[in-house]
Amino acid sequence: MSLKLYNTATRRKDTFAPIDAKNVRMYVCGPTVYDYAHIGNARPYIVFDVLYRLLRHEYGEDHVKYVRNITDVDDKINAAAAEQGVPISEITEKTTKVFHEDMKALNVLPPGVEPRATAHIPQMVAMIETLIAKEHAYVADEHVLFDVPSMKDYGALSGRNRDEQIAGARVEVAPYKKDPADFVLWKPSASDQPGWKSPWGWGRPGWHLECSAMSKEYLGTTFDIHAGGIDLVFPHHENEIAQSRCAHGGAPLANVWMHNGYLTLEGEKMSKSLGNVVTVRQLLAKWPAEVIRLNMLKTHYRKPLDWTEERLRETKDNLDRWYRVIQGAGMRNAENPPSEFLDVLGDDLNTPAAIRAMEDIEDRTQLKAAGDFLGVLQQRPEAWFKQIVSVGMAQEKDTALGVTPVKTYSVEGIEKLITERNAARKAKDFAASDRIRDELKEGGVILEDKPDGTTDWRRA
Ligand code: AMP
Ligand code: ZN
Repeated sequence: MSLKLYNTATRRKDTFAPIDAKNVRMYVCGPTVYDYAHIGNARPYIVFDVLYRLLRHEYGEDHVKYVRNITDVDDKINAAAAEQGVPISEITEKTTKVFHEDMKALNVLPPGVEPRATAHIPQMVAMIETLIAKEHAYVADEHVLFDVPSMKDYGALSGRNRDEQIAGARVEVAPYKKDPADFVLWKPSASDQPGWKSPWGWGRPGWHLECSAMSKEYLGTTFDIHAGGIDLVFPHHENEIAQSRCAHGGAPLANVWMHNGYLTLEGEKMSKSLGNVVTVRQLLAKWPAEVIRLNMLKTHYRKPLDWTEERLRETKDNLDRWYRVIQGAGMRNAENPPSEFLDVLGDDLNTPAAIRAMEDIEDRTQLKAAGDFLGVLQQRPEAWFKQIVSVGMAQEKDTALGVTPVKTYSVEGIEKLITERNAARKAKDFAASDRIRDELKEGGVILEDKPDGTTDWRRA
């Protein structure tokens, strides 16, 4: 299989060739842990998880180094802590834990390294010192700023001209900046804000710098793939490139830059002010995790994706059908999915074409192998058809999450109710029997009475 990837930097699909022919190094910008991941945030982690799986398949599991950071120092975190009146560490620890649970539920493989920004402050300070020494950064009013005009090809990744850079940077009015496009590498912290000692006083790093320092630490000066959401192209990735290249004598930061498109919800941009932000957690309370994962992959990663209930229902039907096909196939896995499936994935991660190819696979073990590759069809079919919601997430009554507690039943709970109903039927108490049937139906459980008097069930 030849792997072609669209590169934001070259604006075309290029054949992928890692710097070290046998080993691939990739970095994906991870979450800022101040709030629960919404479904848009999950998009890069799911789509680049498929890339990770594809690279592991091509180069071998031990030959792909995947780094995805945790941004645990950021002004949004400070604001959330102040608003909720809790220590910063409480926000970052809880959000990181929930993020890990969400990713696990969505079958996103953990990255090889998951560095936290707060554990890499010395590396960040060292990089700033280098940039100052090379006259790409300057100290002003307890801040350290990157001197944008000092870099000749600043703006190359995003293709923004200078006016657009200044407008897009949405810079706060800062009299200490030499140029309006200059951005912060280090800033002073008040005594109640997180801070570290530095040559420029007590302070904290800028967000862009965090990724430059952490990627250097684990992947070296130049690595193969750097990815994230399209909104990160400017200014985040542009600034990462500026810092890293200027600190490293002009060496490129990454050869391939990949960006996923934006996700909207029922045709609208998700935003707190519109009140239409849907968290991964809320979705997991309503839909099997595989429905969420597959639904994400049914749209090509670079295209905009409109997340709708209707599409989720269609996706659930896809999975129901596939599970019916693999039912009875046993747990023996085919070695590899069919080559057509791998070929389309290798064409810039064309997951919608791969999913369409799955519709034509007649061989059960091959279908299962293709599902494995995309990280779905991971349950026993019998369990799939009895699954109400995933792993008891819905039971969690965390009002802070805005999760509407939904009525859920464990498999044992359902079977207990069926036993009670059977007893009622035997005693000819049809009112009680119907009441139980209706209650289960409301909870999404469909009963199937067999001629021999037993009752089977499945979820709606
Ligand atoms: P954040 O935690 O805000 O830094 O964002 C984490 C990731 O989610 C970044 O790669 C963003 O580009 C991405 N992202 C945020 N919102 C959306 C969205 N609505 N659609 C697609 N990707 C998004
Ligand atoms: Zn980053």
